[in-house]
Amino acid sequence: MIQAANLGFPRIGIKRELKKATEAYWKGEIDYTALRKAGAELRARHWRLQKEAGIDVIPSNDFSFYDQMLDAVAMVGAVPPRFRTSQEGVRVVATHQTASAYAVMADVAELSADEAASIDFDTYFAMARGSDAAPAMEMTKWFDTNYHYIVPEFHEGQAFRLVSTKALDEFNEAKALGIHTRPVLIGPVTFLSLGKAKDANLDPLTLLDALLPVYAEVLASLAAAGADWVQIDEPILALDLKDSQKAAFEAAYAALSSCGVKILIAAYFDKLGSNLDVVRSLPVDGLHVDLVRAPGQLEDVLKDWPWERLLSLGVIDGRNIWRADLETAFATVETAVAARGKGGVQIAPSCSLIHTPVDLNTEQKLDAELKSWLAYARQKLTEVAALKTAATKCKDAAAQAFADSAEAVASRAASARINNPAVKARVGAVTEKDLDRGAPFNTRQAQQRARLDLPAFPTTTIGSFPQTEAVRKARAAFKRGEMDAPSYDAFLMTATEDAVRRQEEIGLDVLVHGEFERNDMVEYFGEQLAGFAFTQNGWVQSYGSRYVKPPIIFGDVSRPHPMTVAWSSYAQSLTEKPMKGMLTGPVTILQWSFVRDDQPRSETCKQIALAIRDEVSDLERAGIPIIQIDEPALREGLPLRHADWEAYLAWAVDCFRLAAAGAGTETQIHTHMCYCEFNDIMPSIAALDADVISIETSRSDMELLESFSGFKYPNEIGPGVYDIHSPRCPHTQDMSALLGKAREHLAPDQIWVNPDCGLKTRRW
Ligand code: GLN
Ligand code: ZN
Repeated sequence: MIQAANLGFPRIGIKRELKKATEAYWKGEIDYTALRKAGAELRARHWRLQKEAGIDVIPSNDFSFYDQMLDAVAMVGAVPPRFRTSQEGVRVVATHQTASAYAVMADVAELSADEAASIDFDTYFAMARGSDAAPAMEMTKWFDTNYHYIVPEFHEGQAFRLVSTKALDEFNEAKALGIHTRPVLIGPVTFLSLGKAKDANLDPLTLLDALLPVYAEVLASLAAAGADWVQIDEPILALDLKDSQKAAFEAAYAALSSCGVKILIAAYFDKLGSNLDVVRSLPVDGLHVDLVRAPGQLEDVLKDWPWERLLSLGVIDGRNIWRADLETAFATVETAVAARGKGGVQIAPSCSLIHTPVDLNTEQKLDAELKSWLAYARQKLTEVAALKTAATKCKDAAAQAFADSAEAVASRAASARINNPAVKARVGAVTEKDLDRGAPFNTRQAQQRARLDLPAFPTTTIGSFPQTEAVRKARAAFKRGEMDAPSYDAFLMTATEDAVRRQEEIGLDVLVHGEFERNDMVEYFGEQLAGFAFTQNGWVQSYGSRYVKPPIIFGDVSRPHPMTVAWSSYAQSLTEKPMKGMLTGPVTILQWSFVRDDQPRSETCKQIALAIRDEVSDLERAGIPIIQIDEPALREGLPLRHADWEAYLAWAVDCFRLAAAGAGTETQIHTHMCYCEFNDIMPSIAALDADVISIETSRSDMELLESFSGFKYPNEIGPGVYDIHSPRCPHTQDMSALLGKAREHLAPDQIWVNPDCGLKTRRW
């Protein structure tokens, strides 16, 4: 039997209804009944849409008011103790972790559904966003997508108890609409592995025995309600697993296999590799594999996955916006079907579609040609359904879909908008020499010191200054056409001059222009580069109610004209102090966009690097003595498997060097990185060979620098002396203390003094 399946549908809504509803609830504009209703409407709409698209296996519990990991926290009652409210006894109890409190928790279940929901919402959103009394739970990107998960927290003596029946409720809700769904849960091993122990000696995996009864209860309740299959997401199967994790898989699924429902384990984002041995030994009934990210694993999976168990083939890209080449996907399906004889096969997207926008039909402004190359979540389901039709009947039965796909593939391959021979030739001609600054760091340092004449411990900032209400209003008015270009420019000039004066007053050594003209550090460049497109509605959830609209890199990238020179030159003209030019690096531009899938990412990245290289030259020619090339996303591009790191780091470092190395030896190149731990990629960061790097270290108390005892960072470095993400203003003593720590690990003439990131989210 061949079925069309889906693993998860974007929950944000075609008009971002989810964002509007949750934010209105947070502001007190709507009550929880209205919020629940908004959620129910989205779910109903999305279930029906999937059914109409021809999907046989439709997920439920893929919806979330904030994040599916947070839902799992709520499900098993792993609410951190700090989230208790004192308004009502029952609320206090609902968030306690002790066994006796849980005994009282049973009473909570006696409340009416609405009352229980109101309790859930308050605690639930407090965990996600923090409350006056308690800071929010941590958020992180575990995989190489731009989606942030809430990080579960575990304590010594952690107990679990079924607290939220959301999975069951949503299954029943769909059932009432006549739609039989396959509920989705985050797997117990992923849940524990990705969570954080709040007590130093606790290994979260040791909590497995305490956790499994709750999962068993959930599965049994779903079985009782009529569910036949449950999808259990275990994305950590795409990572290198420790032996203890492998053992946890065996224990977990041995316990869960007899709960009355069939289990499909979903692995995605990368290959299973040797973890295939782990899943094969589990008593589960189905496996989903990602054949877009890792097409090469098909052979092994077909060889090793028993034919009598279900195999779900992830053949439609669940995390990019390109229309599929159905011919290629179908070849994969045919290979699998042929190899498996009568074994069950499902055809599916590679992963949950929450990483793609909802519906291409909402794009009114994209030109027809570009639009014909794209597919959002809704269109991807149609592709899945077409593959199923072709596989069950014959290709002719889906002839139109195959013809449209073939036409899109052909037109993309041949389009003059995509293929720019000059760009390709230029990339082809890049040599090692183009990656080299032409003189070793020591020589450059001496020349730059002579030119810049900076004091010891030079001070600077990372680039942006407050994007105040006035700045945002002016930009919005300009975009709506209510403010004309000359007035907008005049406004930006005033803002820039104000920033320069303030920096002079403060007495900073290296100034910045403030980035008032930029809305976003990638969009600003993408809008000016050839090969990029911007959508109206290509929203993807980043976390909670924050959605991003990544640019689409569809063609060969080139720079038709200078992008930042006018603003940097203007700012430099206002002051005698050196002005730092401000660019976003090629890896970060790549990482935060939807990238074309018809050539290696490294190739696209090189093209962007050449465009940035041209900008560096133009800034230099305009007399800008210092140029910063930001690469905050360098680390998040790391492949999930350690074995693949080296290859990625090699090309990523080369691309940065290609962007920077056109600069003369007297021009000082800075880079900036944040949001991450760098310890394990220090050699690559040094290999960037930036003259100066500024990094985030303040939150970790300069811990990062301890790794420098083993690795001597060769160039100059500005370890951030305060956390710009916190509204708290640091005291001079705090900053001196941090610098004191830095001095223990670095030579005095290596050290710069700066905050740990740009200041755009702060007020003046
Ligand atoms: N130059 C950018 C700024 O100051 C850097 C932002 C970032 O690191 N994310 O805003
Ligand atoms: Zn930063």
